[in-house]
Amino acid sequence: MGDSGYDAIVVGAGAGGAAAAWRMTQRGWRVLLLDAGPAFDPDTDYGLDRPDWEQAGFRHKPGSLGETRFATLQELDPTLTDLRSWSLGQGPTNRESRRAVSGPGYHHVRGIGGTTLHFVGESHRMNPASMAMHSRFGVAADWPVTYAELEPWYLEAERLLGVAGPAEVRDRWRSAPYPLPAHPMSRASQRLGRGAAALGFAWDANPRCALSQPYDGRPSCNYCGGCTHGCPRRDKGSADVSFVAKAKASGRCDVRANTMLLRLVQGGGTGAATGVGRIRRIEAIEIFEGGRRRRLPVRRLVLACGAIETPRMLLLEPGLANASGQVGRNLLESVAWTSIGRVDEPLLSFGGLPADAITWHHNRPDSIPGVIGGFRLSAAIHESEMIGAIAHAQRAVPGFGRAHKREMRRAVGSTVAVGAVGESLPHPRSKVDLDPVGRDPFGRPLARIHSYVDAMTVQRLRAMAGAARALLRASGVTTLVEEYGTYDHFSSAHVFGTCRMGKDPRQSVVDANLRVHGFDNFHICDASVFPSSGGGEAPSLTIQALALRAVDRMA
Ligand SMILES: Cc1cc2nc3c(=O)[nH]c(=O)nc-3n(C[C@H](O)[C@H](O)[C@H](O)COP(=O)(O)OP(=O)(O)OC[C@H]3O[C@@H](n4cnc5c(N)ncnc54)[C@H](O)[C@@H]3O)c2cc1C
Ligand code: SF4
Repeated sequence: MGDSGYDAIVVGAGAGGAAAAWRMTQRGWRVLLLDAGPAFDPDTDYGLDRPDWEQAGFRHKPGSLGETRFATLQELDPTLTDLRSWSLGQGPTNRESRRAVSGPGYHHVRGIGGTTLHFVGESHRMNPASMAMHSRFGVAADWPVTYAELEPWYLEAERLLGVAGPAEVRDRWRSAPYPLPAHPMSRASQRLGRGAAALGFAWDANPRCALSQPYDGRPSCNYCGGCTHGCPRRDKGSADVSFVAKAKASGRCDVRANTMLLRLVQGGGTGAATGVGRIRRIEAIEIFEGGRRRRLPVRRLVLACGAIETPRMLLLEPGLANASGQVGRNLLESVAWTSIGRVDEPLLSFGGLPADAITWHHNRPDSIPGVIGGFRLSAAIHESEMIGAIAHAQRAVPGFGRAHKREMRRAVGSTVAVGAVGESLPHPRSKVDLDPVGRDPFGRPLARIHSYVDAMTVQRLRAMAGAARALLRASGVTTLVEEYGTYDHFSSAHVFGTCRMGKDPRQSVVDANLRVHGFDNFHICDASVFPSSGGGEAPSLTIQALALRAVDRMA
């Protein structure tokens, strides 16, 4: 079958694109799923069994790291010392007077599976109270889809992934139990649980797309702790081993790695005039594959390049889908804080399932007095990468010689961390636009990320840091060894909001069914459509539930 024979083309094989492609194959459609990055083989590519596993982190392959630019970030207030990042080994980790971009900056993965290849695998549903932030608090925008409308598709995504979770999750009703029972908590998380009990809040199993039992032909988790390095067993529900594998198995989905979308080609207006002009179509896309440019005719197009590249693709075609002027605006980012400390007992804290425990106690949007937007706390030692000897020696155990060796023996395995992730509210200074200087290999402007931490975010961060420290103290932490957060470092783990969905085409880019306003064959199925961030919920399950629902609505 020639390319023009596809019922739909999906660009971007990450969380959203993979889910959309699978659902289309379920509907009997022929689908082309393409991605700019390479395919990864869990059997050989992650190298958790190699001696350099710790330094290597997630092992990128040629083409799996995209390029972005950052606008100059804001000046920091020298009086806010309690929110600065530091470690025992390194002292202040941002010595500048401005916020810094940490590590590789926008550290998302290009590849079949997208950023889920190195995500942790928390599988959260939104708190329904966080989906009406505008009508309740006058901030962000309301979701045009309710929790009740989304619930059947949450269930569907959880079943495909094999999510393991507890019987109940605070504030989120379910029409059926999780497909798999929750994982047992590691010793380190049990210790944090005793601290939470002392403070009077619940400390629950975190819903995770890591298999607690063999499921659907995949083995159960072995608690190696390596999720952010890539799961070699295929039990973590990254999009490649779940939605993409299922879509391919249907025989109706062709998957092409290393295939870059270059241009969207808009057709002429047809059909009735609407509030945003005539209904239009995407007629074709231009791609770069195997060293040459090609043009592919399009019947239906799903754009799923993530919250930074999707708005970039639209901004590269002036006027396309941007009658509202909202493309690239409302960037929501990870508002995060992590405190790490040591207890006086060996807990083997380097092992176990990452982020196996969580509290939703502070997650409602009115949980913090005087502040809009809540947060969650979870066990975070693996995400902080404070598990191996090298990290401990560099960051947690200063010194050298015999005394250092002795301390290292005590420290590795007795370090625990609490991570807080909170609501991120839109701000006019947080957005994505086109960089005036940086160009990709095809001469097109790179995306430029602007990020701003406002006064209320500072207050929320202070509440998050206070709660994380209190939980560590109540759990018997005697020494803090490292703390870091969003106040002085930009972190891009969760980014969303740059093509927000809404009922009003003047205020949003896509409608409740993720159809781009003013188009009849063009949908966006990725993190960019979120109207608000939630109070620390991890986004992928919601991205996937929305994508499954969007395909059902298309059909
Ligand atoms: C370290 C880390 C840990 C995380 N942990 C969790 C977690 O535990 N739970 C959770 O829910 N979320 C987690 N996240 C966030 C989650 O991974 C993302 O929110 C999610 O993957 C976003 O899905 P997406 O479909 O929007 O984009 P992605 O998954 O990033 O996929 C976008 C895809 O589009 C492709 N693409 C981009 N431009 C082009 C182009 N021009 N042509 C062709 N293809 C293109 C990219 O190559 C990429 O594969 C984590 C993120 C990070 C960085
Ligand atoms: S902890 Fe489990 S899910 Fe994570 S990488 Fe190891 S085996 Fe895979």
